[in-house]
Parts: sequence; structure tokens; C-alpha cells
Amino acid sequence: AKTDGGDRLAFYCEGMEERSRSRASIALDLKSAIQNGELELYYQPQNDTRTRSLKGFEALVRWKHPERGLVSPTEFIPIAEETGLILDIGAWVLEEACTAAAAWPEQYSVAVNVSALQIAQSTLSQQVAAVLARTSLAPARLEIELTESGLIADQAHALKVVLDLKKLGVSVAMDDFGTGYSSLSTLQNFPFDKIKIDRGFIMSLTANKQSAAIVKSTILLGTSLKIPVLAEGVETEDQLSFLLQEGCQSVQGYLFGKPLRLDECIALMDSERGE
Ligand code: C2E
Ligand code: CA
Ligand code: CA
Ligand code: CA
Repeated sequence: AKTDGGDRLAFYCEGMEERSRSRASIALDLKSAIQNGELELYYQPQNDTRTRSLKGFEALVRWKHPERGLVSPTEFIPIAEETGLILDIGAWVLEEACTAAAAWPEQYSVAVNVSALQIAQSTLSQQVAAVLARTSLAPARLEIELTESGLIADQAHALKVVLDLKKLGVSVAMDDFGTGYSSLSTLQNFPFDKIKIDRGFIMSLTANKQSAAIVKSTILLGTSLKIPVLAEGVETEDQLSFLLQEGCQSVQGYLFGKPLRLDECIALMDSERGE
């Protein structure tokens, strides 16, 4: 095939067109996805670094599109955020995750991702309180994961939402730590119960001195602030032993398990408990 500039430019434009067409059609289909029951929650194990025991799960949404097949949340969550559909999806995820966790042995927790728009909407804490009441899930078993982008738009409002959640007894984690523009001041301004180190740093942990230093410092920071640290995307024993040595409390990643369907996640809890 010819690879001169003209051809490449044409190819690039076609690609862009296809991309925006698929974005538009995804946005349209997403509207009906909830009503049609096309969304499904998967649960990824979170384990204690030292004992390796199972502590709980992070709920991660999946979309089983009738024609496209499985659509990744990295593809549809940004579109859902732009179109406001994240409010419906977020409400569904929260209800579904709490309903599931309420039926688990009470030692296991569930973590739910919450987007910026859900924070901006002043009713998040009431919504959470209502779901906890409906499902009878103990508040301490629910963790809300927030990213920096969800907290910067209106800091005063976001702080009130976080404090209201904490008043309910729900814990609040800072997700993707280190990837935002001001992770440290966000940490200074919000009373987080957990810091989740982004997968990007863990991925390059054993190959890259910079990553190792950043991970080490983040764990130290958590220790000084008395905030437990969880490392995301742990895939190897080498990464695990580094994290153990540095005092990171918990881990999540393919080494302990990929996101599981609810039935698989229940089977895992049963086998952990020797049933
Ligand atoms: P996240 O919250 O940082 O979630 C972690 C992502 O890393 C998940 O991807 C998970 O499957 C993946 N992961 C975990 N361990 C490993 C590992 O060891 N290796 C590799 N290569 N990947 C690992 P997923 O499920 O595709 O979700 C992507 C993002 O979509 C999430 O990033 C989160 O930002 C968003 N998302 C997912 N579910 C929800 C939801 O219910 N609500 C909102 N607002 N966002 C969600
Ligand atoms: Ca998360
Ligand atoms: Ca994350
Ligand atoms: Ca992430």
C-alpha cells in the first residue's frame, strides 16, 4: 500500500469520521441500554497485601451491546458523562452494587465509582442514604471512589458531599491518585479514608526508578496521614513484594483476580471461607 502523506491524511480523516459516528450512535444506544438491561456489574477482588485475604470488591460496569458485543467502560463512561446519562447509570450501579453486597458475608465490602456530575448533583448523599436504607447494607461496607476531576469544579460543594457521605458512615476513597493536576492539594482538602495508587505507576514499578520512588513516597504519605493505601493493577509477585515491603495495605489487580461476574464473585467468597 502507498504510504505517502496524502494517503495517510485520507486514512486519518476516515478514522475520525468513523469515530465520531460511533460516538453518536453509542450515545443514542446508551439511552436504552439501562431499560433494556444491557448493563452488568462485574466485581474485582481487593486483597490484604500481607495476608492475601479477600477484603472486598470494586464494582465495575460492563455494557453488553446487542450488536457491538462487550463495550468497555473506558469507551462509554466518557460519553455518558458528556450526555448526562451517567446520572442514570450511576444510580443503577449504586443500587445494583449495594443490593449485591447486602447478600454477601458481612466481612466483605463493595467500592463504587462515582463521576463528577454525580457529585455536582446535590442529591448524591441522599441517594446513597436511600439505597442503604432500601438494601439494609451497613454503611461501613460501602466505599465511594472519587477522582480528582470530580472534586475540583466546585470544591466547597464537593467537600460538603464528601462530609455528608462520611456522616452516613460510608467511606470515601481517592481514585487514580497521582494522575490529576493536584493530587496533593486534593488530599490536603478532602478527608479521604483510602488512597488508590493508579495502575500506571504500578505497571512500571519494577522497571522504572521514578515509578518506584513515586509509589514508595505515596505509601509513606498515606502512612504519615494515617490513610490506608491500595495499589491498583497489581499483576506480578514482584510488584506485590515491593508493595508489601513498603507497607501498602491492600492490592487489586489481575494477580488476585480480574473483574468477576456476580456468581463467580460469590463462589470466590465461599471458597475463601472454606465452604
Ligand atoms: P478505574 O476505576 O481506575 O478501574 C480500574 C480499571 O483497571 C478497570 O478497568 C479494571 O478492570 C482495570 N484493571 C484492574 N486490575 C488490572 C490489572 O491488573 N491489569 C490491567 N491491565 N487492568 C486492570 P475497567 O473495568 O475497564 O474500567 C475502566 C474505568 O471505567 C474505571 O477505571 C472507571 O474510571 C470507569 N468505570 C468503570 N465502572 C464505572 C462505574 O460504575 N461508574 C463510573 N463512574 N465509572 C466507572
Ligand atoms: Ca475506581
Ligand atoms: Ca482507579
Ligand atoms: Ca483509572
